[in-house]
Amino acid sequence: MIPYGRHSVNRDDIDAVVDVLENEFLTQGSQVPAFERVLCEYTGARYAIACNSGTSGLHLACMAAQVEPGDLVWTSPNSFAASANCARYCGADVDFVDIDPATRNLCLQQLSDKLSAARAAGRLPKVIIAVHFAGSSCDMKAIKELIAQDNIFLIEDAAHGLGGRDAQGRPIGSTAHSDMTILSFHPVKSMTTAEGGAVLTNDSALADRVRLHASHGITRDPTQFPEDEQAHSWFYAQQSLGYNYRLSDLHAALGNSQIHRLDGFIKARRELAGNYQQQLRDLPVRLPAFDANSAWHLYVVELTKHNRASVFNALRERDIGVNVHYIPIYKHPYYQRLGFQSKHYPNCEKYYQSAITLPLFPEMSADMQNKVVSTMHEVLA
Ligand SMILES: *Cc1c(COP(=O)(O)O)cnc(C)c1O
Repeated sequence: MIPYGRHSVNRDDIDAVVDVLENEFLTQGSQVPAFERVLCEYTGARYAIACNSGTSGLHLACMAAQVEPGDLVWTSPNSFAASANCARYCGADVDFVDIDPATRNLCLQQLSDKLSAARAAGRLPKVIIAVHFAGSSCDMKAIKELIAQDNIFLIEDAAHGLGGRDAQGRPIGSTAHSDMTILSFHPVKSMTTAEGGAVLTNDSALADRVRLHASHGITRDPTQFPEDEQAHSWFYAQQSLGYNYRLSDLHAALGNSQIHRLDGFIKARRELAGNYQQQLRDLPVRLPAFDANSAWHLYVVELTKHNRASVFNALRERDIGVNVHYIPIYKHPYYQRLGFQSKHYPNCEKYYQSAITLPLFPEMSADMQNKVVSTMHEVLA
């Protein structure tokens, strides 16, 4: 089976991890701070806080934005459930902004209309989470302009986006037009730490809150101790109900090695995506818009003539590891029980009915890609 996504780990990556195992610190050593610095250098963000998954990064970002019960968080329905679950962890309500069929990201017009309605009703979201689907950046500048008059936190879910660029040519993760960006280093993403994630921000107060919540809510800053403990070098103070969301040094060592290979990974993905654009163009499918700045995390086509289930099964039977990205978040039973109805998201519904993700990963060989292309021609003949 040719998988839809796969990590690439080489000898340097392995040596970097083994090196940590042979040294003093498995966690809370020098690898995590070094990884955070290199993430800042790569993206241009001022602060990076590494954490143990993209999901914990989203939870930390919502906590730093002080999302609480009674608050509202909006995101795209065309995403992994974690993009919405983070709001639920904080007890907040979720709502979805339908997607733009051209970009498959949340639709700016729908967002604008929904904001007008929310202003009129007096219930604006506290946070909007924009997801850079498949690695193609949302227009963050335009989203920021839409909410310029409102007091809303903007969070970028860039789990697909590291290595890509926005419309202005800035690295995804620069966080130039938002409050925080989260990354994921799960093996199928742009680069991996096995499990891992990060929160990026240019705001020092947000960075402090994220860091505090990622480590039990505990501080070692004596100015924050009770007065009668300030002179005690053993003391530390839990200031809030935080979590242990830290990344280990083993995982960070893998990240420190992988980030040197990131641009190569993206280049390979972009070339493979370009080949698909050429070689599938005569088929009855809608190809993705070719965004040269995309990190090309996923390559998704929409069937225009065939039944998705039959094509999906025929491809799997022929060892093509196709997938579907995404089952709209509101379709999961957990969200159905909260009362969401498909009819409110017609663009996402239409997209979901016909979408198929084809294999795409840096080590995909020409032979593998040729097999995917010829099988697509056979199945859609
Ligand atoms: C992978 C992913 C996440 C979660 O990342 P993990 O590191 O797996 O927790 C969140 N959002 C999106 C869009 C993702 O693809």
